Amino acid sequence: MEEKIVTGGSNRSLERQMIQKCSRSHWSEYLRYYPECTKEDIESFGETYWHRLPQLPGVEYCPKHGKAIQNSSIHLKETAMRFLPASHTLRKLEEKEKAEKWMHKEKYLMIAKDSEWLLMNGRRLKGCREVARKYKELFMEKGLTTAQGIRYAEQIKSEFINYHGEYFLRQLFPDRKDPLYWLDFAFVSMSEHLRPLHHILLMEFLKGSAEGFYKAAPDNEPYGNGSWPCINKLCHHYGKDGAEKISVSYLNGQTIGQFHCAECGMKYQRSRPWQK
Ligand SMILES: [Zn+2]
Ligand SMILES: [Zn+2]
Repeated sequence: MEEKIVTGGSNRSLERQMIQKCSRSHWSEYLRYYPECTKEDIESFGETYWHRLPQLPGVEYCPKHGKAIQNSSIHLKETAMRFLPASHTLRKLEEKEKAEKWMHKEKYLMIAKDSEWLLMNGRRLKGCREVARKYKELFMEKGLTTAQGIRYAEQIKSEFINYHGEYFLRQLFPDRKDPLYWLDFAFVSMSEHLRPLHHILLMEFLKGSAEGFYKAAPDNEPYGNGSWPCINKLCHHYGKDGAEKISVSYLNGQTIGQFHCAECGMKYQRSRPWQK
C-alpha cells in the first residue's frame, strides 16, 4: 500500500482495501491516554499529544509505566469532524483501573509491548506472505501440524487456550461465542481475515513475543532436536533422556517418529509430535 501511495495514481480496489483494513469497528469508543506518559509530555514539552499506542485494540496498560489506560472525554467519532488537541482535553487526568483488566495485567502488558514493537519494527516482518510461511513452519515445529501441513485442529485450539487462558480470550473478544473463531485463518486467507491483535496472540503463542517471532529460525524437525526420553522403567534414563532418533516418516497423514535408547536397547514409536 505504501508503495502504491508513493508511486501515485488512483487505484479503486486499493482504496476499497484500505478502507476495509482501517475499519474502526474493533476500536475503543473513546480516544485514550496514559496518565503517566501525559504528565511526562507536559513536563518535557509543555504540552501533550495523542499517542498511537493507547488507541490500539487489546492495549490496556502502559508498557513503560505499567499504569492502566484511561478514556478521555473525546468520542472517537468526533475526531472525524474536527481537531481536538490533547493538551486541551487532558487538563484533568484520571487514574482508574478496572478489576477485570487488572486480573490479566501481565497478559495485557505483553500485548501493549508487542503492539509497540510492531509499530516500530513491523515492516521488518516483510509482509503477509512471509508471516504466513513462518506461522506454518512454527506450528510444525511445535508438532501441531504434520510436515505436509495437515493440522491437528483440536490440539491447536486446546494448546492455544492453555497458553492464553480462556477468560482472557473471552475478555478480548466479548462479542463472539467462540473467542477463537479466527484461529483457522492463520492457515488460510490470513491477510483478509486476521486483525493485528490476532497476529499478536499468534506470535506470543508461537515464540513468546512479536520480537521473538521475528527472530525465530524455525526448526523443521517435527520431534525437535532432542534429547528424547527412554521409556523403559527399568532404565536409569527413564522419562529423562538417553534415546536417539532412528527416523521420522509420514504415514496416512501421521508423523511417525522412532526412537532408540542405546543404554538398554528399548525401541519405541510415537505419532503425536506435540506430546512432551
Ligand atoms: Zn506511561
Ligand atoms: Zn533406556
